[in-house]
Amino acid sequence: MSRVFNFAAGPGILPLPVLEEVAANLVDYHDQGMSLIEMSHRGAVFSQIIRETKDLLRELLRIPDTHDVLFLQGGGHTQFAMVPLNLLGAAAEASYIVSGIWSKKAAAEAAKFCHVNVIGTPSKSAIPAAESVVVANDAAYLYYCMNETVNGLEFNFVPQCPECVPLVADVSSDFLSRPIDFKRHALVFAGAQKNFGPAGLTVVILRKDLLGLAGDTCPTMLNYQIHAEAASMYNTPPTFAIWVANLVCKWLIQEGGVEVMDERARARSSLIYKVIDQSEGFFVNTIPERHRSRMNVVFTLAESALIDLFIKEADAQGLKNLKGHRSVGGLRASLYNAMPQEGAVKLAQFMQDFMQRHG
Ligand SMILES: *Cc1c(COP(=O)(O)O)cnc(C)c1O
Repeated sequence: MSRVFNFAAGPGILPLPVLEEVAANLVDYHDQGMSLIEMSHRGAVFSQIIRETKDLLRELLRIPDTHDVLFLQGGGHTQFAMVPLNLLGAAAEASYIVSGIWSKKAAAEAAKFCHVNVIGTPSKSAIPAAESVVVANDAAYLYYCMNETVNGLEFNFVPQCPECVPLVADVSSDFLSRPIDFKRHALVFAGAQKNFGPAGLTVVILRKDLLGLAGDTCPTMLNYQIHAEAASMYNTPPTFAIWVANLVCKWLIQEGGVEVMDERARARSSLIYKVIDQSEGFFVNTIPERHRSRMNVVFTLAESALIDLFIKEADAQGLKNLKGHRSVGGLRASLYNAMPQEGAVKLAQFMQDFMQRHG
């Protein structure tokens, strides 16, 4: 089999050794005579996998005992509602930094439950200056999206808020690609399908003292405390996705952990940004360098008529899924943890070659 370079934003590329391990053990899970996906989630085999996966995440991200790890379903979108439902308590207001499409959507969902204090300029995607993030002491929490997957923006600082205000981050698309400071972050969540595993699993890491704030009308399945008390086994968890995520954790540890992933991500994305910056306007990316995403390089061609041709030619060379999100158009190269450096090298070469032929 010849594997292509898959630049999709999500579901995204997974490490080949993980896929091979899954393939080798899918039908007969390590001589059990049945597949893991046929087994009870309460049986010995899966119970061990889910416990171990939490431990591996704790090791990879150095998650302190103050925080719990939950494996849920419903994707990032369900977290847009679960965060306010669980963290508002008696507060009337939450603060949202709106820096792009995902944080804007989260703020709109929260507005169903409380007054939302918007920080930033919702009409355009941008990361506000650190000093413009001002949060009142009585805000229920401050929310931000660490990496805006669609807009190609990534925070290079942790937003400041009063110590009494919990800081919440959507880390869906840069999860496990850099360390997370859990002294600062009260809650982070990630849909697995961007950088962690298959679709169907959502990870929430939250401070234990935030459990129990949900009101009586909060639906059972949307209550963090219910899931925490049941060790993420209140109902049937997504067993297949958790198994694959377990293997991804082991692969990450073997590769050297999140600091190594960070270095590799910087190297990969720099290769592409460099071609863009040296193209004399042929390729366009207007994001300030300090806020450029290491994960999702969003760019376009000054000559927009060439975009479809670029995608078609790249595709023919095994550089797949470079089309930008339907809401912004243009091009996007998602460079998640599992993307080999060679994929970025090949894309950079293709871009230069394309420019020479069409520039
Ligand atoms: C993809 C994405 C979401 C939405 O995730 P779903 O799992 O599809 O609901 C939310 N936030 C970010 C940053 C994303 O990249």
